[in-house]
Amino acid sequence: MSKGTLYIVSAPSGAGKSSLISALLENNPTYAMKVSVSHTTRDMRPGEVNGVHYNFVAVEEFKALIDEGAFLEFAEVFGNYYGTSRPWIEENLDKGIDVFLDIDWQGARQIRKQMPEARSIFILPPSRPELERRLNTRGQDSEEVIAKRMSEARSEISHYNEYDYVIVNDDFDVAVMDMKAILRAERLKEAKQAVKHANMLDCLLAEE
Ligand code: 5GP
Repeated sequence: MSKGTLYIVSAPSGAGKSSLISALLENNPTYAMKVSVSHTTRDMRPGEVNGVHYNFVAVEEFKALIDEGAFLEFAEVFGNYYGTSRPWIEENLDKGIDVFLDIDWQGARQIRKQMPEARSIFILPPSRPELERRLNTRGQDSEEVIAKRMSEARSEISHYNEYDYVIVNDDFDVAVMDMKAILRAERLKEAKQAVKHANMLDCLLAEE
């Protein structure tokens, strides 16, 4: 069995990244895929569940986890800390499971350095007005937070060119198809196919 692939997915908030990842995981029974649950020090939003959307921790606990080397990457985003659990990622990749990270550009840079084999995908909204509309209809954040997130969006988007793939999430179904196309192409890479079809290749290459 070959190791799972680590997919980094970044976008400004409101671009539809979480919905795209969820749609991908729901409609793909053939392959084992999981999304990593990050640790964060930010306040829980209405409807969020501890351990499902994030592991919500206090700043002191987060800092202790940094000192223990528990994070594959961590960053400060919008004034709060966010981090990806190292042991959880390694364990799942070793089991052949593809893992999705919904993280920002700073985390993406840290992961690329340590794991150059990770694939990265940037999700763009089709326009700024549409991004603002999506942030408003989400109804989770105050006006002040939305204004802050709009101003941060430009900075996140300015890093789109550090990623392997770029998807424009205008039509959601098309964006899901684009994500699936990336996964499919990755799974057809020679190194993965050589492991998956080892027996078949042995037979095909056997002397007469
Ligand atoms: P939100 O607070 O809206 O859930 O997330 C804010 C931003 O933090 C998003 O861009 C999200 O991708 C990013 N983020 C979430 N978890 C992590 C993480 O573990 N590491 C890093 N670097 N960014 C994260």
